[in-house]
Amino acid sequence: MVDLDGSLGEGGGQILRTSLALSAATGQPLSIEKIRAGRAKPGLMRQHLACVNAAAEISGAKVEGAQLGSQSLRFAPGPVRAGEYRFSIASAGSCMLVLQTVLPPLLLAGAASRVHLSGGTHNPMAPPFHFLERAFAPLVRRLGADLQLTLRRCGFYPAGGGEAEATIVPAAGALQPFDLMARGEHRSSHAECLAPGLPRHVPTRELDTLGGAMGWSSEQLRFGTARQNEGPGNALLATLAYEHVTEVFTAFGEKSLSAEQVAHGLVKELREFQKSEAAVGPHLADQLALLLALAAWQGKKACAFTCSEVTEHTRTNCAVIERFLPVRFAIDESRQICTVRVSPA
Ligand code: ATP
Repeated sequence: MVDLDGSLGEGGGQILRTSLALSAATGQPLSIEKIRAGRAKPGLMRQHLACVNAAAEISGAKVEGAQLGSQSLRFAPGPVRAGEYRFSIASAGSCMLVLQTVLPPLLLAGAASRVHLSGGTHNPMAPPFHFLERAFAPLVRRLGADLQLTLRRCGFYPAGGGEAEATIVPAAGALQPFDLMARGEHRSSHAECLAPGLPRHVPTRELDTLGGAMGWSSEQLRFGTARQNEGPGNALLATLAYEHVTEVFTAFGEKSLSAEQVAHGLVKELREFQKSEAAVGPHLADQLALLLALAAWQGKKACAFTCSEVTEHTRTNCAVIERFLPVRFAIDESRQICTVRVSPA
């Protein structure tokens, strides 16, 4: 039994998702207390409960404490079953976070799975669909496994209603560790604005502001393909493709922010990343840490990546991973480039 205090470190929903994923992937039962104890609305929210239920469904787990608001959970998984699954979040909670929970165990299952997801596809504080498709999935493929993603319909807060599919194919043998120390040569950059249900001047101003600040041409500034009835919603995405990695940064529109403020928020993130020579940005870092830990464990070989920043989120994720897998992280931080190394213990 792995006992965790859910309020440690960053203290958010990521502790729950990583521990559910690794409990199911390794078969070790999990007991977690003080889930999101320091948050304004502590305990399991709808989105977290959907993750618990999804992890239980793929592993036949016995679960205690799976109620809205619950701050303690016991999760005793059985063997993970590959197959076809449907996971839906009735609210606009991110269904991409449900995918984040079931992906690691399904990557280690004996056969391919198809997962149908519904809920939010582009939510603040969660990986947007396009980030998973362009930045994250290629790294899954470098492990020797496969992840293919299809977006059927966008879902934004507060309406939700997005739909996506994921096909997850485990590697033929063990997952293959790899190093990702540099992003390599710059290949292309572009921005797109999803603004279904909003007046045209909103995406126009966001793209113009971003393009002006980054010196991007009109061919690099695109109106996204979301349909009117998928809104209202607003996500401004920037995709930077390099030789070894593609990064996707996203800013979300809010009623209290002008279109220009949304664009400037994204410009700030892009400049932080461009200033550094690291391979990946802060969000890809915490998600890559888990993938490479699985590969280091299975492939019995150390591997490493560089990132522009090690957030409290990444640190906490690494600490949770070490509780489940026989691996050790070493984090070397400097101002503009940080190295995260994971070795079999
Ligand atoms: P809580 O409400 O308890 O703070 P949560 O369950 O909403 O937590 P977090 O713990 O903040 O979620 O985790 C969010 C996850 O989404 C992390 O893996 C983070 O890297 C990822 N994420 C957040 N924003 C982005 C983004 N713009 N692009 C890619 N990934 C993102």
